[in-house]
Amino acid sequence: METRTDITIIGSGIIGLLTAKALIEMDLSVAIIEKNQRSLESSWAGGGILLPLYPWRQKTAISDLVKQSLALYPLLSEELIQNTTIDPEWIDCGLLINKNPDIKAAIQWCEDYKVDYQLAEDRLFELFDTKTLNPLWLPSIAQARNPRLLKSLRQFLGQHPKVKFIENCKLTDFILKNNRIIEIKTSQGKFPINHLLLATGAWTGKLTKDLLPLTKAINIKPVKGQMLLFDAKTNDLNTMVLDGHHYLIPRRDGKILVGSTVEETAFDKFTTETAFKTLQQFAVTLMPKLKEVAIINHWAGLRPGTEHGVPYIDNHPEIDNLSINAGHFRNGLVMAPASAQLMTDLILKRTPCLNPKPYQLNRLDASL
Ligand SMILES: Cc1cc2nc3c(=O)[nH]c(=O)nc-3n(C[C@H](O)[C@H](O)[C@H](O)COP(=O)(O)OP(=O)(O)OC[C@H]3O[C@@H](n4cnc5c(N)ncnc54)[C@H](O)[C@@H]3O)c2cc1C
Repeated sequence: METRTDITIIGSGIIGLLTAKALIEMDLSVAIIEKNQRSLESSWAGGGILLPLYPWRQKTAISDLVKQSLALYPLLSEELIQNTTIDPEWIDCGLLINKNPDIKAAIQWCEDYKVDYQLAEDRLFELFDTKTLNPLWLPSIAQARNPRLLKSLRQFLGQHPKVKFIENCKLTDFILKNNRIIEIKTSQGKFPINHLLLATGAWTGKLTKDLLPLTKAINIKPVKGQMLLFDAKTNDLNTMVLDGHHYLIPRRDGKILVGSTVEETAFDKFTTETAFKTLQQFAVTLMPKLKEVAIINHWAGLRPGTEHGVPYIDNHPEIDNLSINAGHFRNGLVMAPASAQLMTDLILKRTPCLNPKPYQLNRLDASL
């Protein structure tokens, strides 16, 4: 089958889709190959909080992508509302963080990255039963309803003349010649390649290890996360709440997500009773009103886990026409717009929007 496009992207998660959008804005044509019918992996399964959990405990390389993405999200949301029939439900509902033993570092981070903060007042805790410690209220932190964001982006890109989607199509091999990928093999046959971008999330480490055995392995492994959904009503809860390791996220229609577990696993997305009980217990203890509310969904997704959670965004050092944008671990939704921008800059070999060094494939993780 002939699909000679400028760039072939493997993976239609948030990273593949937003990188495709950035590339077509530069007038490049794009083919997006996805093994599933649509985006159903980590980007679908995630919570959509547009801030890392306790960002002051994370690497600067994460905060730098976050800062740039936070500025881009409202514009992206508006563009999708204007040009599609699906509202991605970007809502700046604020985030309450109940326990901050490292409050000085938290405030310093907010000052450095110009994120509004207030020491949380007692009235914000009326719904909750918890022991707070230096609680912090971040009124401008937003969420996106990630399944809708993906659908909206899919529709936006699908109607663009420079974009072609090839779904239910699994990449199975690369054909290399003189340090270039000239063709890929897939479950739907062979495709010629001009430039290939892997946005394959948790599968990127295994794919490159299996298909490019002579190059340095890319250290990305699946890390399972499970979530619950409560069938709550509009206005039962109006802000996101982070308490210790877990959180609640209220959607616009009132439903409340509870997240999440962090489990190093193989490529399995089974849900477990242990995780169900842990998340349920957390939710009803923190917000006793939820004892009366039914749980209507329980699911798992595979995060692309990397050392320190810092993604790889780089052109491959040994294969001339291969780029990688993967490994966003717990923060792929919030880092995606800036990651897409940086990847596009590197593919086009123009001045990058951020220092690309921390995201290089041959970085030493210990130096991050
Ligand atoms: C429970 C949970 C909660 C989360 N909460 C948040 C949050 O609140 N905020 C936040 O910012 N992040 C969150 N994340 C993390 C975030 O979801 C990920 O970092 C992000 O989705 C990664 O995006 P991606 O596009 O790289 O990966 P994915 O969404 O997994 O996309 C990769 C795509 O590549 C495709 N693919 C793989 N191999 C092949 C192949 N051989 N051929 C063809 N296609 C292939 C897959 O099918 C998939 O669609 C959460 C994740 C989980 C699991």
